Amino acid sequence: MLIDEPLDIDLYCPPCDPGSEAWVATVRVKADLTELMPYMNAVLKNSYYDPEIPTLVWKEGAHKYFIRKNEFGINNLHDRAHAKRKIAKLVEQLNEVWERRDTIKPDHTSRKPPNVLEIFKLLPRTNCKECGMATCMAFAAALAQSDKTLKDCPLLDMPEFESNAQRLRELGL
Ligand code: SF4
Repeated sequence: MLIDEPLDIDLYCPPCDPGSEAWVATVRVKADLTELMPYMNAVLKNSYYDPEIPTLVWKEGAHKYFIRKNEFGINNLHDRAHAKRKIAKLVEQLNEVWERRDTIKPDHTSRKPPNVLEIFKLLPRTNCKECGMATCMAFAAALAQSDKTLKDCPLLDMPEFESNAQRLRELGL
């Protein structure tokens, strides 16, 4: 088993969205998770993997998950009880993939999240704050980090922004 220690959970409000009721949990571990990442990259769909940092990020349902060398975490959590449930499921998944790594071909392909400026250029750029962010640039940064989704910008549903919304989806957002 790769992760079997008592978990050191840090629950905090995301810095890009002060006052938010959605929380981020980071779990620090003694285990080195570097070797696990290419196996998770092979198992997951649409994950971002940077072997140089190293870090692996992916989205599932309403949550963004990340793994770094000695920590992993989840965003968009309601409270500590919710965080504990989601973390327990993630630990189970990480251990399960680690246990059957001999049957998985590791994927070392690097794939990085879209550039914030590239995202910003495709947004309506009205700074209307309907998404809950102070500016479209802040929203672009939150999108790049998977802390927001395209659905959070209602203007993208308007016909004049249809092609922009499509290009944003093609960026994997
Ligand atoms: S809702 Fe859309 S247009 Fe308005 S500030 Fe947010 S990202 Fe910009």
